Amino acid sequence: MLTIENAIAGKRVLSTSSRKSQVFNPATGEHIADLPLSTNDEINAAVASAKSAFPAWSNTPPMKRARVMFKFKELLDKHAADLARQISREHGKVHDDAMGEVARGIDCVDFACGIPQLLKGEFSRNVGPSIDSYSDRQALGVVAGITPFNFPAMVPMWMYPAAIACGNTFILKPSERDPSAPMLAWDLFMEAGLPEGVFNIIHGDKEAVDAILDHPDIKAVSFVGSTPIAEYVYRRGTHAGKRVQALGGAKNHMIIMPDADMNQAADALMGAGYGSAGERCMAISVAVPVGDKTADALIAKLKPRIESLKIGPATDKDAEMGPVVTKMHRDKILGYIDKGVEEGAELVVDGRGFKLQGYEGGYYIGGTLFDHVKPNMSIYRDEIFGPVLSVVRAQNYQEAVDLIHGHEYANGTAIFTRDGDAAREFADKIEVGMVGINVPIPVPVAYHSFGGWKRSLFGDHSIYGPEGVHFYTRLKTVTTRWPAGIKSGAEFTFPSMK
Ligand code: NAD
Repeated sequence: MLTIENAIAGKRVLSTSSRKSQVFNPATGEHIADLPLSTNDEINAAVASAKSAFPAWSNTPPMKRARVMFKFKELLDKHAADLARQISREHGKVHDDAMGEVARGIDCVDFACGIPQLLKGEFSRNVGPSIDSYSDRQALGVVAGITPFNFPAMVPMWMYPAAIACGNTFILKPSERDPSAPMLAWDLFMEAGLPEGVFNIIHGDKEAVDAILDHPDIKAVSFVGSTPIAEYVYRRGTHAGKRVQALGGAKNHMIIMPDADMNQAADALMGAGYGSAGERCMAISVAVPVGDKTADALIAKLKPRIESLKIGPATDKDAEMGPVVTKMHRDKILGYIDKGVEEGAELVVDGRGFKLQGYEGGYYIGGTLFDHVKPNMSIYRDEIFGPVLSVVRAQNYQEAVDLIHGHEYANGTAIFTRDGDAAREFADKIEVGMVGINVPIPVPVAYHSFGGWKRSLFGDHSIYGPEGVHFYTRLKTVTTRWPAGIKSGAEFTFPSMK
């Protein structure tokens, strides 16, 4: 049985922990690896290695750091399919989807190659007599990232490439459920010439997370995961004096206006609702058609599409949707479908009985569609994180907008319409962090930044892109005057231009 190692001080090391969790292949249900849950001593060793690597790395010219990043990007390009296979094997997503995840992760590395440009400060000559002023952005020190299961390669790449390119050293605590992809990326980064200790990985659960949050030598924490844990991480981390950005869960709505192209809207909902088995924080889980005529037309388009979804393991090239990540998660999703029926929603397509011949041990669920979902139902309020789409009918545009504003999450949203006025009004007024106009999954590209509003993000910074650079650096402003410009005698008034 494979045992997943930590990566500390430039080496892969086997944990000595007596506590462990198991990693499964969701396509088959097979137990494929053991994951030791790191001890406090191991976490301290990782932090110590990052701390001792920091002075030299932060002092390395940004261009030299960028060269290591370029090499890393080249190696990622070369090994993209290997990474995708690792992702699929432990997460379950189909190969093309995993390749898409890797590509979006590489985009963040690409962006990090150009970070020297963003570390440049500003300079003002003669802010006073013979006085000049300049500012620049300096690295924080040791920083950490705690990541979820649903993008095991990409979400860590939202964090460590930018942090490291800015001159920080990094500790990653990946999800326990699919830890192998970040390990492969770590190998490639080391092969690219990253000095030891700059990037460390420790595996673990709540104990490791708490140790990170409380560690006095860790200056900042990026977290991506569910909202209750994001809130906990934010509170505990900031209480310990750290800078924290904690991205949480979502319930993303897509409004379908009566003038929308119904085929386009239905296709968009298929990809956004059922791609990656609905296990995306930017998945659309609520469709809001405006008017009953629109709703009926939409359901008529969706039903046959969902019924003919090709579900299978990542090794099946034709599969459009894989299994969900664990048995426990599958049971939770099935429980929500039961609850939706009990609560009175109309089950239009029922994915509960889905079985895949030859893969009876896998964690598959068929695509599921509910109509006439009401805002007080748990299938509407909670993030299910599975292939379950709810249709909530709105009688007019304002009712659809009010529905979105009434939800605790505000990660992403979309509107499908041909009406430019409605689209502009929506983009302008909707209180959600990421908005799509006829784009169902508006995940910002790597040179913009990603972040929701309300209970989808705790903290003041979005992640990656320019906001990532700000999160992983702090501003210093220096004011200089040379002896030739200094008047003799003490001055007791506050410096001003008067
Ligand atoms: P999760 O919250 O269960 O786990 C995330 C991380 O927190 C993992 O590393 C895990 O080990 C750790 N963790 C779990 N329980 C903990 C506890 N009690 N105390 C401290 N740490 C703990 O999330 P998940 O199930 O891995 O991922 C799915 C969730 O992530 C969904 O809610 C999804 O919306 C969210 N997500 C959000 C974004 C975003 O950008 N907003 C992106 C991806 C995923």
